[in-house]
Amino acid sequence: MPDPIVAAPAAPTLAVRGDARRFPVHRIYCVGRNFAEHAREMGSEIDRGTPVFFMKPADAVLAGGGEQPFPSATSDLHHEVELVVALGRDAEGEVTADQAMALVLGYALGLDLTRRDLQAKAKAKGLPWDTAKGFDRSAPISEVIPAAQFGALAAQRLMLSVNGSVRQQAPLSDMVWSVPEIIAELSRLYELRAGDLIFMGTPAGVAALQPGDRYHAAIDELLHLDGSFTSR
Ligand code: MN
Repeated sequence: MPDPIVAAPAAPTLAVRGDARRFPVHRIYCVGRNFAEHAREMGSEIDRGTPVFFMKPADAVLAGGGEQPFPSATSDLHHEVELVVALGRDAEGEVTADQAMALVLGYALGLDLTRRDLQAKAKAKGLPWDTAKGFDRSAPISEVIPAAQFGALAAQRLMLSVNGSVRQQAPLSDMVWSVPEIIAELSRLYELRAGDLIFMGTPAGVAALQPGDRYHAAIDELLHLDGSFTSR
């Protein structure tokens, strides 16, 4: 193969529990408005007919969380704690919800960091959300836990605390669109690949983060993610 004209970027990867191999990130799909209470706090009602999708670049991943610089260009950085689905197989075209779970390798826990001020401006003008959602290190993500260890998706609880105070918590059973339904919908729009991640949406309680804040996220005792923001 001819030499690249500039250094080839390293593919972002996530740790996999109990496995020395890492999960290479291909794309990051995100679902909006997937918990009714959060949709309401954002001024929307759930429309079952149209799940909202957006994307982050793969290299927005911050594997394992940890300290990160406070993002630029925002004075209203919001946390959104979310279940993340990791796909381990390519979809052969469109899949049904019944076929979808065969694509799932495992699950992780992530933050969909959001410049809420830029998102509000974009929404008001009917403009895209990219600068609000797809910035550098906007996706701190835990290790991936194999699906068999996670167990069936049911009443496991998502939780996020900031500086020791709980901000968000809800059972995964509160999701409006289930994991197989979302995978089926995405497969109509995109060619799903091994290495894809899907952020499944956040429960109510989103709020602003400040420089110097520390967060702790968990799904029961299954997954943990810890991180912090440098002071400006
Ligand atoms: Mn989100």
